[in-house]
Amino acid sequence: MTLESWGRYPKSTSTDIVHFSWPFSELPKDRKSFISHGQGRSYGDACLNNSGTVLSTKLLNRLISFNSETGLLRCEAGISLSDILKFSVPLGWFLPVTPGTKFVSIGGAIANDIHGKNHHVSGNFGHHVEQFELLRSDGQRLICSPKKNSEYFYATIGGLGLTGLIIWADVRLKKISGPFIKMDSIKFSSLKEFFEISRASDKDSEYTVAWLDCVASGDQFGRGIFMKGDHSDRKGRDKDAYKSGFLTVPFDFPNWALNSTSVKAFNTLYYNKQQTKSVTKTVHYDPFFYPLDSVSNWNRIYGKDGFLQFQCIVPKVDGEEAINLILKEIVSAQSASFLAVLKEFGDKESLGLMSFPREGITLCLDFAFRGEETLKLFRKLHDIVFDNGGAIYPAKDACMTENEFRSCFPKLQEFTKYVDPKFCSDLWRRVTDK
Ligand SMILES: Cc1cc2nc3c(=O)[nH]c(=O)nc-3n(C[C@H](O)[C@H](O)[C@H](O)COP(=O)(O)OP(=O)(O)OC[C@H]3O[C@@H](n4cnc5c(N)ncnc54)[C@H](O)[C@@H]3O)c2cc1C
Repeated sequence: MTLESWGRYPKSTSTDIVHFSWPFSELPKDRKSFISHGQGRSYGDACLNNSGTVLSTKLLNRLISFNSETGLLRCEAGISLSDILKFSVPLGWFLPVTPGTKFVSIGGAIANDIHGKNHHVSGNFGHHVEQFELLRSDGQRLICSPKKNSEYFYATIGGLGLTGLIIWADVRLKKISGPFIKMDSIKFSSLKEFFEISRASDKDSEYTVAWLDCVASGDQFGRGIFMKGDHSDRKGRDKDAYKSGFLTVPFDFPNWALNSTSVKAFNTLYYNKQQTKSVTKTVHYDPFFYPLDSVSNWNRIYGKDGFLQFQCIVPKVDGEEAINLILKEIVSAQSASFLAVLKEFGDKESLGLMSFPREGITLCLDFAFRGEETLKLFRKLHDIVFDNGGAIYPAKDACMTENEFRSCFPKLQEFTKYVDPKFCSDLWRRVTDK
């Protein structure tokens, strides 16, 4: 059966999907290979397994226990962040780290050691995981923590689902007063100004991120809107959440719908919608963290051929120049979409052997897939990233080469010792000789 990730590129044909659920059993012995699949929100091929079995965790979706004194939550690994928030926010607890969508599973959050707008303060998701249970294809069930089976703990955080199936995890949540965020949005007119605002804001704001206009050229090159926020003390019930998915994209847009003219028009409107340099407001956490979740199936706007996301990180030393070069390349290609994000990561060292986050500047944006033209642009962007000692995020990637992958992850050799011999993904086959 054909399976797609969020980017819908590449397509992959699995032999079958096994829905893993309580009461937990062993993995079927007669299958050739497995990969776990949470909510399928990774963009490339990390959750796909061509000619193999996909282990869906959609039914592993229960909360197991919660300590309201300490915020320690035990839950099954297929539960979504959205379901956790529904339970925890009314009790005054929030996710310690959250990505730009709440429709990802705990297993996916651990396997990609995801990051959020508070990386400079809180690090990655893995920093807040205390232990989990890992099921291996030989039937072993390992409780993994920094003290127990620690080698599997560090290999599984950011381990791309290759060390086995996470069944449940203990995650420490963060105390909040209510569901609101006090936020500022500040317009910037150049990359230089972005870096000035970012460095000042990272000292006193928990959440920071910027939207970048990736088609603006000339004296508008590098313009965007910087957003920073903190949990507000304002109390309130969670009832004001806007309905995620209340808009839906019912069909695949034709390829021509998204082009440089439509993206330019959108970006100009978006940039100019805010008329003053800066605006302060208090908003519900939903539009602050998850603006895209209000439109279900928004990935269809890229058409049936899908899209690729490019997310790189470059070290801060010379990073401003590298981002400048990358952006110039992107602007001259005039093929980026309106979704472009720029953020500086802090210096908290990742726990996972294969975690992507590291100190530096990360840029992330989408490109509709237009065959060789898109792949050629990615090759140019990758060259700049790797010439500058940077890395590409596997959760978003669909075209990194084996050499590039190796240079992103210096602990790759150590990691391979813990890969389950029966676990494999399309990504893993692409970037190794498996
Ligand atoms: C709109 C949008 C915004 C995003 N923003 C961010 C962001 O800000 N920061 C960020 O870091 N990421 C971001 N992402 C990427 C996303 O957070 C990751 O790809 C995440 O891993 C997806 O989780 P999932 O449950 O959908 O996992 P899947 O995509 O299904 O799988 C991802 C990986 O996790 C493994 N996996 C899943 N479940 C298990 C399990 N139970 N045991 C072992 N391995 C498992 C899979 O094998 C695969 O390798 C974003 C994605 C979208 C669509």
